[in-house]
Order: sequence, then structure tokens, then C-alpha cells
Amino acid sequence: MVTPLVFRGASAGQCNICGEFGKLTEDHTPPKGCYRPTAMEVQHLHQALSAEPLPRKYKTNNGVRFRSLCAHCNNALLGGLYDPALIKFSTQVARLAMFQDSLPRNMAIPGQPQKIMRSIYGHLAAATVNGYGQWSGYEELSHWFLSGKGQLPAGLKLYYWFYPYKPQIIVRGFGFTPMIGSGSIFVGWVMKFFPLAFLFVNQEEGIALDLPEMSVYSDLPMDAEIDLHIPLRPTTHPRWPESYVGEHGLILSGNHAMRTIERPRRFR
Ligand SMILES: [Zn+2]
Repeated sequence: MVTPLVFRGASAGQCNICGEFGKLTEDHTPPKGCYRPTAMEVQHLHQALSAEPLPRKYKTNNGVRFRSLCAHCNNALLGGLYDPALIKFSTQVARLAMFQDSLPRNMAIPGQPQKIMRSIYGHLAAATVNGYGQWSGYEELSHWFLSGKGQLPAGLKLYYWFYPYKPQIIVRGFGFTPMIGSGSIFVGWVMKFFPLAFLFVNQEEGIALDLPEMSVYSDLPMDAEIDLHIPLRPTTHPRWPESYVGEHGLILSGNHAMRTIERPRRFR
């Protein structure tokens, strides 16, 4: 039996997203309904991609839970409105990547960026106890999440990429520079669970990471569905960017990190 890591905190308090005081409910990351691959499926996919498998040495859990959101943010908005778009998109990527004999270099999968972005923000915002007001731009982000309108704070971008690995990763508030001398420090929140990774970063104007960016679709209507482009190869390092930035990069800190992976299944 695999169990989620649970961070309970108080049963009542301030919601991490809207800031209202009241009864708190548990957020589950990744949301229930997302595809969970078996170890065999992941191994098969790695062969198809010629990717390095990860060593299995981590403690085992199935997702994480935080009691940090009010019922309205958690159930009506995240669970009721935004998560279904993330679950659908993530499941379609998983199916298309896994059930093909030969993988193309790129895929285009339909998705609703406005809902997917808010779903990712909601789970990242939930992933701490007593977090309201603890990050920059939280008021604009709350308005953007709650109203379904408005823009991300200036300089905040959301990138996504293919993540064909089993460990689930949530890291909030770390700084990194992809290349020493690139003159830019990125401050990021990252969330990864098979088959996709998402990274919110604050960055200067005119500098971009070489990854697909979802935040370019911030002006679309809430229900708009478009083809989202996903390069499958080359694969991004499984621990990029939170603990691997390559030979010439730099990690500044990681003040809130967790990693979960299922216990390896026994052969029967
Ligand atoms: Zn709330």
C-alpha cells in the first residue's frame, strides 16, 4: 500500500490562495485522475527515448497532501474547474507517448492553457502550510486564480516540458542560472509528475528559457483549447532545474523541496 505524504497543519486557518480564514481542506498533488505509470511502462518509454533511468533509492509515497486551502479554492475552483483540464492534458500526453512504437521528436496535444496554468499555480500555492502572503505577487496571483481574469504578474512565466520519469517533485523558491555568465537569475517553483514538468519563474524582460512557454497564452478565453507543442527529444535532465543545472550552471538555494516516488514493485 503506497500512501501519500501528508502535511496537515491546523484544521482551520488562512487559505494559501485567497487568504480567507476558516476550515482548511487537503489538496492532493498530483490531482487524482492523473495517469500513474507502472515501472515497466516507464522503463519501456526510456528505451524508446534512449533516456537514462533514475536510480531507485528514494523513500516511497504516492503524491503529497497539504491541508492549506479553503473548500472554495480547493473544491469549487481547483478540483471543479481547473484540474480537469490538467488531468485531461496530462493523460493525453501519457497515452500518446506510451502507446506508440516509435516516438516523434515533437507532439502537439490539445489543452486549455488558462485552466492548466491555474491548476498548476493552485497546487504549488497549496504545497506549504500557512503560506498566504509568503511569495511575491500573491495578491495579483490570487485575483488571477479566483476571478479567472487578469494577468500573471509582470515577469512571471510558466514553462512546461516532457518529464518521462516517476519521481514526483515539488520545489518552491529556489534560484538558478542555467549558465554561469548568462547574467540572469531565475527564481522558480517547479512541479513535476509523469509525464510533464511545470516551472513558474520570475525573470527579466528579454530573457527566456529554451522551453515551451504556456504563459504566452494568457490572453485566451478561459475555455479556449489549442494545440500545445511538446518536444519529446532530447529529454531534459530529470533533476533540472532544481538540483541539476549542468556543468556551467548554478543553484542558489532550495528552501522548500520534496520528492516522492513509489516503492519499486516486486516481480511476481
Ligand atoms: Zn481559498
